[in-house]
Amino acid sequence: MNVRPSATSEWPLAQRLAEGFASVLSPNFVLEQLEKHPASIFGLLPDGRLAYVNPAWARFARENGAHVADAPSAWLGQRYLDVIAEPLKPFYAQLFERAPKEGTAMHPVSHVYECSTADIFRQFVMKVYALPKDEGFVVINSLIASRPHDASKGEPQPPNTALYQSTDGLILQCSHCRMVRRADKTRWDWVPAWVEQMPAGTSHGICDVCFEYYYPDDENW
Ligand SMILES: [Zn+2]
Repeated sequence: MNVRPSATSEWPLAQRLAEGFASVLSPNFVLEQLEKHPASIFGLLPDGRLAYVNPAWARFARENGAHVADAPSAWLGQRYLDVIAEPLKPFYAQLFERAPKEGTAMHPVSHVYECSTADIFRQFVMKVYALPKDEGFVVINSLIASRPHDASKGEPQPPNTALYQSTDGLILQCSHCRMVRRADKTRWDWVPAWVEQMPAGTSHGICDVCFEYYYPDDENW
C-alpha cells in the first residue's frame, strides 16, 4: 500500500524506481547523485515508460499538479508522452528520437519550455540523455528563469467565460504558455485564474506564438 508522506518527507526510492533500472543507469549516471540533484529528473525505458523519478521531480509534481496526487509507484510504467498535451506530443516524440546515441555526440538534446504559475513566469531547460545500448533515457529539467510575469503576456484578464467559451462549450488554452483563446478567435489572453485552476471544458491547443517556436518548419499544422 502506498502511504502519502508528510510535506517534509520524501517518497521512498522503492516507489520511484522500477526494478532493474538502477543497473541501466550506471555507469553513466550515479543514482546517489540523481537522488540529491536539485533539478527534476526522470528516467524512461526505451518505449517511453517512466522508470525513475528523483525526489525533486516528485516534489515538483506534488506542488504543481492536481492530477499527480497518487504515489510515484502509480506513475511508474506510464508513458511519458501520455502526460504531454496533445498538440505538443509530436514535438516531444521527436526530441527523444533526436537524442544522440552513445558515442555520437557530446551534447544531449535540449529544449526550453515554460511552466508558469498564475503569478510566476518560470522557464526550464530539459536535457535528454540517451542511455547506452538503447536502454532508455535520462531527462534533466532545470529551472532557468523564475520571476513575476511581465508585460509580455499582456494585461491579465478576468475569467469571463462568456468571452472565451466557444459554442460547443470548450475553452482553448495554449499547452505551452497557457494563454486562452477568445471565442471569436481574435486573440489569446492571459487569464491567471484559469492557470491556477483550469475551468471545466478546457481543451488544449497551441497559440500562434508558441506554434512558431515548436513547429517553425511546419506550415500545414
Ligand atoms: Zn502559447
